Amino acid sequence: MLTVLNKTGRHGLAEVYLGMVRRDPGLLVEFVDACDPALGGRDRKWVVVVSTQLGCPVGCLMCDAGSRYQGNLSAAEIMAQVEQVVAANGRDPNDSLKFKVQFARMGEPALNGEVLRALWALKERWPQVIPCVATVAPAGRDRWFDALLALREYFRDFQLQFSVNSTDDGQRDRLMPYPKMPWQAMARYGRRFYRPGQRKPALNFAVGGDWELDAAALASRFDPRWFAVKLTPLNPTATAAGNGLAAGGPSSLLDRSADELRSRGFDVIVSIGDPGENDIGSNCGQAVWRHRHTGLRAAASPAR
Ligand code: SF4
Repeated sequence: MLTVLNKTGRHGLAEVYLGMVRRDPGLLVEFVDACDPALGGRDRKWVVVVSTQLGCPVGCLMCDAGSRYQGNLSAAEIMAQVEQVVAANGRDPNDSLKFKVQFARMGEPALNGEVLRALWALKERWPQVIPCVATVAPAGRDRWFDALLALREYFRDFQLQFSVNSTDDGQRDRLMPYPKMPWQAMARYGRRFYRPGQRKPALNFAVGGDWELDAAALASRFDPRWFAVKLTPLNPTATAAGNGLAAGGPSSLLDRSADELRSRGFDVIVSIGDPGENDIGSNCGQAVWRHRHTGLRAAASPAR
C-alpha cells in the first residue's frame, strides 16, 4: 500500500519520507517525523505530518505541492504514513506526553472526505493523539467542516489552522487560487470550534512577501478571544521562487507584525523552523517536487 522510497533529514529533528502508493511510481507522497530535542524529544512531544492528497488542487503560489494533482489518498493510505513513522521509531506514541498528527503536508484536507475516516482510525489506535488540521478553508465544504466539528469532541485537544496569508481579498485569492469561505463564515466556524482551555484556532500567515497583514483589518474580522495568529517566514520553495516570491524576509518584519497583532489582543505564535529544515527539503511538496524534477529522491544524505 505504501512503499518508502527514501528518507532524508536528521533523526531527532525532522525526517522527510518519500513514499509511493498503489505500487505506482507516479503516485508519490511525502510525510514527516519531527520532534524537538530541546523540548525533551519524543517523550514530551512527537509530531507526524501527513499528506492527504496526491499533489494538491489548490495550487498556492508558494507551495511545491500544487504543481501536479492526482486525487485523494484513502484513509488507509493516510494512516499508513503515521504507522510507518511509528514503526521506524519502535516506540508507542501513547507513551509521549503529546503525540500530534498534523494534516498539513501535501493536499488540502477539507477536500478529502477520507480525512474524517483517518481521524476516527487515529483515535481508535492512539486515544491520546492530538490532531491538527491546516486548511485554506475551501468553499462548498460545509458538510465536511460540520463533520469535523462533531469529531473534535472525541479528542482531548484538536487544533485548527486557517491559512490566511493576506488580509487583502485580491492578494489572498492570488496566493491561494481556489474558492474559499468568506471571512464571516471562517470567523463563525472558528468560534464554534474553540474550547476554553484548548488552543485557539490559528490564523496562519507566511510572512516575507509584500502582501498585506493589516492587524486592524484582521481584528475586525476575527475576535482575538477565539483566534490566535501564527506567523511563519515564507519558505524557500521552487514554486515560490518561480512566482517571484522572496523567501525569508527580515526578522524585523515578523517582529513588527507580531507587535501590531498583540496590540490588537491576539496571541501570536512566531514559528521559525531550524534553518537546516530548508536544506533537507522539509517544506511542503519539496520532497516529491525534487524527486520528479531532479531525480535526486529529495535531498542528498540518508537519514541514518
Ligand atoms: S499550501 Fe496547502 S493548500 Fe496550498 S497548494 Fe500547498 S498543500 Fe495545497
